Amino acid sequence: MRLPDHLTPAEVRRNEPLAPWTSVRVGGAAEALVKPASADSLQKVLAFASKEGIPLVILGGGANTLVGDLGVPGITLKLASDYFPEEIAAPRITLNAGSAIARIVTLMKQQQLVGAEFLAGIPGTLGGATAMNAGTKNGECMSVVEAVELATPDGIGWVTGLVYRYRHTDLPQGSVVTRIRFALRTGDVAESASKMEADLAYRKRTQPLSQPNFGSVFTNPSGHFAGSLIEKTGLKGHRIGNAQISTLHANWIVNLGGATAADVTGLMAEAQRRVLAETGVTLTPEVKRIGRFVE
Ligand SMILES: Cc1cc2nc3c(=O)[nH]c(=O)nc-3n(C[C@H](O)[C@H](O)[C@H](O)COP(=O)(O)OP(=O)(O)OC[C@H]3O[C@@H](n4cnc5c(N)ncnc54)[C@H](O)[C@@H]3O)c2cc1C
Repeated sequence: MRLPDHLTPAEVRRNEPLAPWTSVRVGGAAEALVKPASADSLQKVLAFASKEGIPLVILGGGANTLVGDLGVPGITLKLASDYFPEEIAAPRITLNAGSAIARIVTLMKQQQLVGAEFLAGIPGTLGGATAMNAGTKNGECMSVVEAVELATPDGIGWVTGLVYRYRHTDLPQGSVVTRIRFALRTGDVAESASKMEADLAYRKRTQPLSQPNFGSVFTNPSGHFAGSLIEKTGLKGHRIGNAQISTLHANWIVNLGGATAADVTGLMAEAQRRVLAETGVTLTPEVKRIGRFVE
């Protein structure tokens, strides 16, 4: 595959194994992992891929991504976290999409702001959190987003009013989030800190954080919890190859070491089949698949 001429060797890794770039540590290699050094370079990559018909996927922190065992054809795009300087004009904070979600939590504390407590403890990047509308029952990312900057094959610009729903934001086809402007508020910072501490303690108690995983496997169907539905089928602890439905939380799959994407998708299919047969409820994956999977 030909890549744009402007890319320097430091911006490209060919045949790069992607498992280490994801939290569940599963899957094959990227034909080319491209990490543009600047927003300008990124925009040129998008224009090139669009013109040449090269498939392109975006990988943020890989905390919600399952990579296929047969690898990812075309360009797998990673963003740097320093394309633009951070802009802090409390209560507004503008950050790079490639920055860790934890960055907003740190700045919230530093700037004595409140409003995004529900993002504490969610791994990944702010671009991923925006695309996924990440959150918890206590709130969702897009509720504190005022504007999003998008790169497309035609240029880079700010947009407002993106439509979003539970764990999904409608981003224009082929666009990459490059910056996010958050609108937070002043408030009781002590209460905010204690909410976040309580959330983190809850996560430690209920989630298998010591084992590689990608968070919740399925979204919660309306009126149900995916974890309870799977637990009722008796699948907690069920194993295929080296992947296991967590013994701690049935809506989480953990990699016991050397799991393949086929192991993981096998477990997902089994959970969907059993839950549908026993409860009539269809489980929809929250995790995003990229690349080619063994059929
Ligand atoms: C231990 C653990 C706990 C978790 N807890 C939660 C939780 O409480 N709530 C929750 O919502 N999620 C949770 N998750 C899932 C995950 O952390 C979130 O979905 C997070 O937002 C993913 O960010 P990421 O950068 O890793 O995205 P990735 O997995 O890299 O990508 C996810 C999707 O976003 C797209 N994307 C990424 N960056 C961009 C960009 N810049 N522009 C356009 N599209 C982009 C990707 O193409 C992909 O479709 C958890 C995961 C783990 C491992």
